Amino acid sequence: MDILNYILGGFATPLLSLFNPHFGLSIPYLLSSLVVVMVVYVASRRRARRNIVRFLHYAFPAKLLLHSSALLDYRYYVINGLVRVFIYGSLIVGGEVWSRVSIAGLTGIFGPGAQNATASYAVAALVTITFVVAFDLAYWFNHWLLHRFAFLWEFHKVHHSAEVLNPFTAFRSHPVEDLMAFNMISLATGVSYGVLVYVFGAGAQEFSLLQMNIVMLVYYLTIFHLRHTHVWLPVRGALAYVIQSPAHHQIHHSVEAQHAGKNLGFSLSLWDWIFGTLFIPEHERRLRFGIGKEGQEFNSVARLYAIPFVQIARSIGRKLNVLQSSPPPA
Ligand SMILES: [Zn+2]
Repeated sequence: MDILNYILGGFATPLLSLFNPHFGLSIPYLLSSLVVVMVVYVASRRRARRNIVRFLHYAFPAKLLLHSSALLDYRYYVINGLVRVFIYGSLIVGGEVWSRVSIAGLTGIFGPGAQNATASYAVAALVTITFVVAFDLAYWFNHWLLHRFAFLWEFHKVHHSAEVLNPFTAFRSHPVEDLMAFNMISLATGVSYGVLVYVFGAGAQEFSLLQMNIVMLVYYLTIFHLRHTHVWLPVRGALAYVIQSPAHHQIHHSVEAQHAGKNLGFSLSLWDWIFGTLFIPEHERRLRFGIGKEGQEFNSVARLYAIPFVQIARSIGRKLNVLQSSPPPA
């Protein structure tokens, strides 16, 4: 019976996630994102040219939503949701483990930390912002590794092979990439939270709603989903150096060489700015997404899983051949 419950629970998880605020694709986030799309639509079109039918065509373009790349996103979302629950989800270490480890480590080295059961609003603000900044640093660094090293790029190509963008594209990532990203983010956010609790006491808690960091909640409710859509929404001026707008991320998916490896952040462009990978979106332009001709190979769920391994095996094979064909030492 336990096994049956486990299996049924596993299959239900991707569906239940649609109502879980901790899960990016939850339905309330999709609905609130639609309100933002409506604001963009109203702001970008003259009154005489606006009506409900045109808005629906703008928000839900059949050509993009029924594109073969989008259909593959939907299939992969369902299947990989199950693969994550049953196969690799248990390999993701939660942030609370890392915070406990860091508090124990600091206590072992420096003695007991602060014992305050309550904390000021300033400390709560610091905990809230630290989570966002640590999350984004880990996300940026992992994303930089995925673009920087050839064998990791093979896994990240799964995400970049999407030729059109929709909210499901965010979940088109290989399990190897997922394991790297989730573990690195929970390590960074867990350790930084542990340090703050050690310094300020257990009362050091973030501002939260529905057990979500308030800044992250606002991000998910507003622009997170728009990063994987056709909706052009940039931020300009000083904000462009701090906030990762949807247009920033659409630039990241562009096939143009000048955009390669740019805008690697999640909600912030701060780390891109600091480490020289920022490309500020200027004027609205037609971007072509994907990885060119090679992307055509990524045309089934099985291929999204297998191609990175095949490519890495081929590349190792080529290197071994080179070694074998080199002349023996004199
Ligand atoms: Zn990328």
